[in-house]
Amino acid sequence: MRVLLVEDDEMIGESLSDALQDEAYIVDWVKDGRQAILTLKVQPYDIVLLDLGLPEVDGMGVLNTIRHAQIKTPVLIITARDEVKDRIAGLDSGADDYVVKPFELGEVFARMRVLIRRAQGQADNLLIVGNVQLDTTHKRVIMDDSPVDLTAKEYMLLNIFMLSPEKVMSKTELEDSLYGWGGEVESNAVEFLIHSLRKKIGQQRIKNVRGLGWYISNSN
Ligand code: CA
Repeated sequence: MRVLLVEDDEMIGESLSDALQDEAYIVDWVKDGRQAILTLKVQPYDIVLLDLGLPEVDGMGVLNTIRHAQIKTPVLIITARDEVKDRIAGLDSGADDYVVKPFELGEVFARMRVLIRRAQGQADNLLIVGNVQLDTTHKRVIMDDSPVDLTAKEYMLLNIFMLSPEKVMSKTELEDSLYGWGGEVESNAVEFLIHSLRKKIGQQRIKNVRGLGWYISNSN
């Protein structure tokens, strides 16, 4: 899952960015509203964490601009306690939810999971495809009632597939979701990852569509 973090406060940004990476999110961090708009126009994200008080263009301006441009990425507003009016205006302008500073990280993560799964049309945090279960709350994967030990990247890849069973994902889409800025991507990194994931959850579970990409199959 790839996150755009929009936060001008260095300390909050730094700690959020670190914590999100520990939760196996790919994080791109921008520090003003103009940069946020430019980035969202060219790069798809699973969710945006948006501070309201920002240089250049404030959070409300970012929200209005991207919604006007039909960018439907879920937006979680991060707001200071004295910005109640802005918060309501934010929800009216197309934000999906908000958290108030100072926040508990656990609450931020929980709200993010809700927004991401709502955007994907999922009702809860347990994804099931065939004999594979993925619990996004506890980051656990179970196959035939036994835990499967995955690396962080394998987990991310499986999560992406399981959010949209039977949907073919191109190599570029997968690279975008799995690797952030500045991370060097080897040309066959995705193929390697799929190879190692297949070894753990079964060769037949992840199907290849020649020239188009891969999908996770419901049938055993
Ligand atoms: Ca701020």
